[in-house]
Amino acid sequence: MKKLVCGNIDSAEAMRLEEHYGAHNYHPLPVVLAKGEGIYVWDPEGSRYLDFLSAYGAVNQGHCHPKIVQACREQAGLITLTSRAFFNNKLGDWEKYITEYFGFEMVLPMNTGAEGVETAIKLARRWGYVKKNIPENQARIVTCEGNFHGRTTTIISFSTDPDCRTNFGPFTPGFITIPYNDTVALEKLLRVEGKSVAGFLVEPLQGEAGVYVPDDGYMKKVGEICKKYNVLLIADEIQSGLARTGRMLCCDHDGVHPDMLILGKALTGGIIPMSAVLSSREVMLTIKPGEHGSTYGGNPLACVISIAALKVLKDEGLSENAEAMGEIFRAGLREIDSPLIELVRGRGLMNAVVIKPQKNLEAWDVCLALKDKGILAKPTHRHIIRFTPPCMITENQVRDAMKQIKQTFTELDAKIAGGMAAKVRS
Ligand SMILES: *Cc1c(COP(=O)(O)O)cnc(C)c1O
Repeated sequence: MKKLVCGNIDSAEAMRLEEHYGAHNYHPLPVVLAKGEGIYVWDPEGSRYLDFLSAYGAVNQGHCHPKIVQACREQAGLITLTSRAFFNNKLGDWEKYITEYFGFEMVLPMNTGAEGVETAIKLARRWGYVKKNIPENQARIVTCEGNFHGRTTTIISFSTDPDCRTNFGPFTPGFITIPYNDTVALEKLLRVEGKSVAGFLVEPLQGEAGVYVPDDGYMKKVGEICKKYNVLLIADEIQSGLARTGRMLCCDHDGVHPDMLILGKALTGGIIPMSAVLSSREVMLTIKPGEHGSTYGGNPLACVISIAALKVLKDEGLSENAEAMGEIFRAGLREIDSPLIELVRGRGLMNAVVIKPQKNLEAWDVCLALKDKGILAKPTHRHIIRFTPPCMITENQVRDAMKQIKQTFTELDAKIAGGMAAKVRS
C-alpha cells in the first residue's frame, strides 16, 4: 500500500466504504479528495489534481480560501446556531450587506439551493394571490425545458429530465414549461394565460442541462415581457451567479434586474450550505411570521462566512478574472483539432465541450482520461463535459490545464484511429 499523505483511509478503502454503505444516488469519478487549496485538490496518497468542477460552482473563490476559513474559525468559537426563535447579532449585518451588494430591498436566507428555489416559488405564488389577485389555487409558474433547479418533489415536478422524474410522482401541479431561449413562446403564453401566471423561473445560463448559453439579450427581453404581463422574473443564479460567467450575476450581461434572485453554492465559498432569495419589500412581506422558514436558515456561522465569501469575489476581482480566463480557455479548447470535439461553448468560466459520440467512447471516458492527466471534470449527460474551474485560476494554470487537455484528446484520438476504442473504456 502507498504511504498516505492525508488522513488514515486510502483511496481504495474510501471508495469501498461509500459504495457499500452509501446510497448510490451519485456516480462519482474514481478519485478521492482529501485536501484542497485554491484550484488544487489532493488524494490521500498525495496525487495532485486541478479541480475543473469546483463542486458545481460552489468554490468559485477556490478551495479553503484563507480569508473565508478564518471567518469560519472565528465565528465557530463564538456561536453557530440560534434558530430564528431569537435574534442573532450577525444575521442583520449580513442582510444589510447582501441586499446592498446586489441592489435588492430584502432577503430571505435558507440552506440548500433547492430550498432557495422552493422559497421563491412560495413567494411568487403568495404574491400572485395577495397582490395580483389570482383566484385561489390558480397561480402558475412558467419554467423552461432543460431546467435544473434542484431535487425536491415540487422542483422535479417541472423537470424535463426523465432521470430526475421517473417513478417519483405524483407531481406538484401549477407549472407550465416552455422552450428555453425562446422569448416568442413566453410572450405567446403570457398573452393568453398571463393573468394566472405569478412568475417565470429561469436560469440565465442553463448549467446542468449542459451549459446552454442563450442568445445575447435573452434575459433583457424576458424582463420586458414579464413586466408587460405583471409576472415576476425569478432568476436562478445558484450556479451562474457570483462571478462564474464573468459578471457578478449572469443577468448583468444583459443589464437586467430580476424581481427575485436566487443564490446558493458559492455564496459561502463551499464551506457551509447557504442559499438566499432576494427581492422587494412588496414581494417579501407577503409572507408573515410562522409561514415559512428553516432551522438553520440565517444561522450566524453561515452569515459571517457569506460576507467573507462575497468580499473575496469583489476584492480579488473574480468576475473580471473569470471573464479574461474564460476567453483564453475557450480559445485554447477551440484550437484542439480532434474528431472527438463537436463544439465548445460557455461564458466566463462556465464552459462545456460537447463530445461527438464515438463507438464505445463517451464523455465519461474522456473524463477518466483527463483524471489520469491530473484534470478533474465531470460529464453532464452522456456527451457533454463541463469545465468550471475556480474563478481565481491564473493564466499559467489555465495554460497548464490546456496542455493536459490537449494531450488527452491527442492520445484518445490515436486510440480511436487505431481501432482501439473498445479498450479505451474501463
Ligand atoms: C445546484 C443548483 C440548484 C440546487 O442547489 P442544491 O444546493 O444542490 O439544492 C438549483 N439551481 C441551479 C441552477 C443549480 O445549479
